[in-house]
Amino acid sequence: MSVLDLARPEIRALQPYSSARMEASGGSVLLNANESPWPAVMAGGIALNRYPDPQPHELIDALAALYGVAPAQVLAGRGSDEAIDLLVRAFCRAGQDAVAICPPTFGMYSVSAAIQGAAILEVPLAGDFSLDADALLARIEPNIKLVFLCSPNNPTGNLVPLATISRIAAELTERAMVIVDEAYIEFAGTPSAATLLGRHDNLAVLRTLSKAHALAAARIGVVLAHAQVIGLLRRILPAYPLPAPCVEAALNALTPPAKAATRVRVAGLVAARDQLAAALKSVPGLHDVLPSAANFIVVRCVDADALYRRLLSVGVVVRNVSHYPSMGGCLRISVGSPSDHARLLAALGARVEAA
Ligand code: PMP
Repeated sequence: MSVLDLARPEIRALQPYSSARMEASGGSVLLNANESPWPAVMAGGIALNRYPDPQPHELIDALAALYGVAPAQVLAGRGSDEAIDLLVRAFCRAGQDAVAICPPTFGMYSVSAAIQGAAILEVPLAGDFSLDADALLARIEPNIKLVFLCSPNNPTGNLVPLATISRIAAELTERAMVIVDEAYIEFAGTPSAATLLGRHDNLAVLRTLSKAHALAAARIGVVLAHAQVIGLLRRILPAYPLPAPCVEAALNALTPPAKAATRVRVAGLVAARDQLAAALKSVPGLHDVLPSAANFIVVRCVDADALYRRLLSVGVVVRNVSHYPSMGGCLRISVGSPSDHARLLAALGARVEAA
């Protein structure tokens, strides 16, 4: 059996759109895409009159090198949000198939599933927010095509051990795809599940340049998977998903000096996270500060709505995650700059007890 047998048959049979840019690369008189011959608008020195390469080789090669996989195992899209959507659309038949998620977790998995008409099986995390692999595996029915794991998990901040991911992927071989969302893995300092791709053809790993690489506005997200899965996703990828200025920004972020600067920035954010966590622990009224392997910290207080509003009233915007299952009283705070933390802590200092 091929991993593609898990995919929607109509997607496997689809004749994908063949864009003008794909058809004739290499020519110099470009009269096949109804573009303007005049580069009237420039963005950062880049002419915008031509359609971009759907998957520019230079970018795919740079991402493959960054993540330690072969270029054929890489698909780049508009953020990992688009990657999630493509996976759901490629594998789940509306009204028949389902995805499994482990709440509390990132909201986009269930939103993409709902848009596609796929059902959602929820297998909650354990009380300490660790993944309950036995409970998850016990609930996997044949209609479940995708199992979403998030490591570090948003919003709880904890990791799923690689051994657990490998065990789940092994048990679900020929049954379901296991999608590991590693949007925040750079802040954890632990190996990526991409190191397991050689062992499991039903594994896909999501990475993004939005967080550690500081490129959220460029919208570059990546699927790392078996080449057959990448080929399948390319069938349903929009014709020109990557705007040229965004590709340029990503290439600039992936030069050796930029990657070195990113490592320094990530180390700084990790140190800042740990300092902020220590400072938050001494704020009166916050009765829990969750350990985090990501670039955010979750705190628990008596009345999250009131504290959220109080912080907002002095211009400090955090994320109210108190409506997530098992997260009553919780706020999620992104690791920011030293001055952001000073403002946050000043705002919290006298006010939490009152909230
Ligand atoms: N996965 C997780 C766990 C996230 O928290 C986010 C963004 N908040 C994303 C994916 C989407 O990131 P992007 O689309 O910017 O790559």
